[in-house]
Amino acid sequence: MCNPELLSRADEAREIRWVPELQEGKIESSAEALSFCRFRPRLHRRRTPLAGRPRPGTPASRRKRRMRLNVEPLARRNMRRDGTAKCEICGHSFGYMLIHNGFNSSGYGYCDRCGITALFSAYSPRVPKGIDVGFHGPITPDAEERVEQCVCGGHFRGKAAPRCPRCKETLSADKAAADIERNAPGTAGGWRWQRSWSGLYAIVIEDQLVDDPWRAEPAG
Ligand SMILES: [Zn+2]
Ligand SMILES: [Zn+2]
Repeated sequence: MCNPELLSRADEAREIRWVPELQEGKIESSAEALSFCRFRPRLHRRRTPLAGRPRPGTPASRRKRRMRLNVEPLARRNMRRDGTAKCEICGHSFGYMLIHNGFNSSGYGYCDRCGITALFSAYSPRVPKGIDVGFHGPITPDAEERVEQCVCGGHFRGKAAPRCPRCKETLSADKAAADIERNAPGTAGGWRWQRSWSGLYAIVIEDQLVDDPWRAEPAG
């Protein structure tokens, strides 16, 4: 798969002609459109916000570009899905994946505005030195200070909650228990859902996962 970050500007100008894919069913979400290169459509693809795009070359645009590249759909990451659950407010069904942050050696946070998940690997070379990140559970307030904003402008917080991808209301960890336990093979052996958004498990909804969005520290 193409990683536009690896292409130099010259390559991009010479080789890639971005064409928006606006046919019905091809728009990824209300906020983003998928574009592909006319010449190598299978290789060069990217996501573009439909509105509110920052001017190219500004720090905001660089940050958005970086974050956009990080928010990859699950299918492309070859990640599993653990089942579907239903929003108790609007009735929308969505796919999800649970992450055991102990086995995964990670910490997590949810965006306090849109509810997407950020995972922070203990093995990332970008982990800031000298702070308690909160690995194996939600990230600490110290860690939150060192994390990039979400693409939506919100902040990843250890105490935030995931949200329904349609109505954007926060989900109830208690009410999700019925769906999560029904879908989990371990339930027959006595496993029970933690019934909170601050335990060992994090949830990733509809593929919306950002890996290690640590803020770049100033050089020196
Ligand atoms: Zn967000
Ligand atoms: Zn909903």
